[in-house]
Amino acid sequence: MLDKVQPPSMLAVPVAERMPREIASGVFWIGDCLAQRHKGKVYHGYNAAFLVAGDDASMLVETGHPKDFPVIERHLNELFARGVAPLRYLFVTHQETPHCGGLGRILKTFPDAILCGDVSDYHLAFPQYEHRMRWMKEGEAIDLGGRALMAVEPVIRDLRTTWWGFDTKERVLFPGDGFAYSHYHEDGHCGLIAEEAVSLDLPDVSSTFADLALFWTKFADMNVYCDRLDHLIARLGVKTIAPTHGLPITDVKATVPKVQEGLKAAALMPETGTNEKVAAASTS
Ligand SMILES: [Zn+2]
Ligand SMILES: [Zn+2]
Repeated sequence: MLDKVQPPSMLAVPVAERMPREIASGVFWIGDCLAQRHKGKVYHGYNAAFLVAGDDASMLVETGHPKDFPVIERHLNELFARGVAPLRYLFVTHQETPHCGGLGRILKTFPDAILCGDVSDYHLAFPQYEHRMRWMKEGEAIDLGGRALMAVEPVIRDLRTTWWGFDTKERVLFPGDGFAYSHYHEDGHCGLIAEEAVSLDLPDVSSTFADLALFWTKFADMNVYCDRLDHLIARLGVKTIAPTHGLPITDVKATVPKVQEGLKAAALMPETGTNEKVAAASTS
């Protein structure tokens, strides 16, 4: 179809031209960064979406942040113009704004698209689309032609209704809030995969994200969650990880332990509060 995963020469490509980016055959990373201030630093994070293109149909995984809809729509139209199969499904990992905030606009813009996953409560906001909502349970898969998107165990989650997605062809895991971490805009990390962003301190940015956004990790034994992640990755034979907030991971063996190190470190730190508050306790 299109080019395979881009070689490291992506570093030479201007940031604005890096997306949509094919991170595995027929799996496209789309969306934009969101800048957030914390302790005097500007952290860039993604609220990404991914298009999984089958032979007959495409599925959008996540919708991006509401502010990103014009970018998401432009990236989608660019891919459809390049011959990617039409959008028939939308899978969102859970009911939080950075993940599903574009849901109404996607369903309106693509009238053939069906919303899939745990579809609790969406009918309350969008009763006009209730007939286009389809429940999925763990292990259920939706066929896209030559590949399928399966709902799998959501090991790291912040809502009870979360499911993770898994592409059966290229073995890409879509872990929603799992593998969440920011990147350094100043170092040109926007649009790079994790392994290309060599100056990124993965344990540090992953612990910061967990500290700010995954409050429950303070009260859980993260060793157990990391073991469960390893088990899921081994069971599914995951080759690529496509997180909503982090940079995509293409070397699972080398990169996953660095993110896990951050999760375990964050669990041991006192909570420092949400954005822009004075830190109660610093690790430095
Ligand atoms: Zn999230
Ligand atoms: Zn960025």
